[in-house]
Amino acid sequence: MRSAKNVSTPSARLIPENEEEPPGSISPAARTSPAKVLFFEPSIISRAKSFKKQNSITSAFRRKFFPMVSDKQWNDWHWQVINRICRPDQLGRFLNLSQAEQNAFKHSRKLPLSITPYYMSLLNSNDPDQPLRRSVVPTEHEFSKMPEEEDDPLGEESQSPLPGLVHRYPDRVLLLVLDFCTTYCRYCTRSRLVGKGAILPSQSRLERAIEYIRNTPSIRDVLLSGGDPLTLSDRKLDWLLARLREIPHVEIIRIGTKIPAVLPQRITPQLVRVFKKYHPLWMSLHFTHPEECTPEAYRACGMLADGGIPLGSQTVLLNGINNNVDTMKALVHHLMKMRVRPYYLYQCDPISGSRHFRTSVENGLEIIRGLRGHTSGYAVPNYVIDAPKGGGKIPVMPDYVVGYQGNELILRNYENKEFRYTDSACRV
Ligand code: SF4
Repeated sequence: MRSAKNVSTPSARLIPENEEEPPGSISPAARTSPAKVLFFEPSIISRAKSFKKQNSITSAFRRKFFPMVSDKQWNDWHWQVINRICRPDQLGRFLNLSQAEQNAFKHSRKLPLSITPYYMSLLNSNDPDQPLRRSVVPTEHEFSKMPEEEDDPLGEESQSPLPGLVHRYPDRVLLLVLDFCTTYCRYCTRSRLVGKGAILPSQSRLERAIEYIRNTPSIRDVLLSGGDPLTLSDRKLDWLLARLREIPHVEIIRIGTKIPAVLPQRITPQLVRVFKKYHPLWMSLHFTHPEECTPEAYRACGMLADGGIPLGSQTVLLNGINNNVDTMKALVHHLMKMRVRPYYLYQCDPISGSRHFRTSVENGLEIIRGLRGHTSGYAVPNYVIDAPKGGGKIPVMPDYVVGYQGNELILRNYENKEFRYTDSACRV
């Protein structure tokens, strides 16, 4: 058995400055059943609120692959970043690779491989079709490009006045803070950019972006994304948020991140204290499947919510991962319990090599029909298609309006029953 140190990688040079204290340790008593279970039990989740527990799948994984790693190391997000799994031979230690996965490494990858040890612990070692595994382990399918696919399907490059700054809507701007993520999603819309080391969080680049925002009074909402902004150090985030807050017309700052799902150890009391200084601060999280909703993820979201940060989730609709009503319902119910509002359900963008992830639009509509009226309204996300070539997000809705007969509006409810509403203000 190799020690954890042996899986360090050269890409650790991207680690942010190491000035945060590590979060608290986990009780060995939390090491319970090694069985891989789907959808964590509520009792496990409520126990996790004690701050000292981890899920049983992760405990078993640690015993097998990282027996010499202390709780303190495992729960230190820097340790997780340093020990990411980035090479095929490392992957083979943890997973029995399928032929399609092995074939992926015969090509030179455009999107790098990177998975935190924590997220790796949630992958099924023997099932290449497990949803979480499909979302982060490359297969040969990502090298087949369909005619409708593009590297930049949303036309972000053509709407970027500066490198890493997308200005599509008049009152909002998207600032790509860096191009680094601790775990790369194989369906990433920005796979043309992430992990390439071309968008760096250098002070000079960020200062130029801040200057652009300062000189554009119509911008009232700044979305920080990437890459994952929460891979920056607390100090760098503090600096960036403070600089943006100095601009009088910036009303809202939002951060897009997948960290609570792939590296919940990053959410520390110190980080939350930084965020609390810059309200109104909103956060868009990226959860894909109920198996990501572990006790650790619950704890991370709870800390952010307790810090007064409104949380929403942006979920990409993915074939074979979450494209059925039961899975999506389980996910949105978890999110609601984590105090995360299911915000968007995205039709998967036609990025190069995404055919195996994309579903039909009818599949998405069927999921919305299966949620609307069948669960709390707050739990139903907006299903949107991000229009090609920079058209922006366009909502796609099942047809609940049948039409007019005279001044009567004919509506269809969630049980497919028709009702008539007299629209007295309607002139016929
Ligand atoms: S976390 Fe976001 S930016 Fe990073 S790879 Fe996944 S989808 Fe792309």
